[in-house]
Amino acid sequence: MPVRAPSVCGYCGKAHPSGERCATVKRMARERKARFDEKRPAAAKRGYDKEWAREASAFLALPENELCRCGAGACVVMHVKSIRARPDLRMVKSNWRPGCQRCNAIDAAQERQERKPS
Ligand SMILES: [Zn+2]
Ligand SMILES: [Zn+2]
Repeated sequence: MPVRAPSVCGYCGKAHPSGERCATVKRMARERKARFDEKRPAAAKRGYDKEWAREASAFLALPENELCRCGAGACVVMHVKSIRARPDLRMVKSNWRPGCQRCNAIDAAQERQERKPS
């Protein structure tokens, strides 16, 4: 069998010696993975890391953050602006407010409602 010349890559338009992986294909795979990670709903969850836990408990320990807006004892940090809309404000304390589990659940339900296409 004759040795075939390496065929031209459909991605970068260059010929690759056999065994070499196309850098363009590699980059595309990486970008695809990054996009996938972004879209995963777990991305927000994964953000609730150690730093968040530490900062949140310090925030809730402040006397002015003792109570939720409903008067119940606050036990979670809620976001004034939804981090779904403003993920950049997740760790910004001016966007934080103390909340209770119940209000947090209500807010989350409301947000889900709002996201539904009408
Ligand atoms: Zn290529
Ligand atoms: Zn509450």
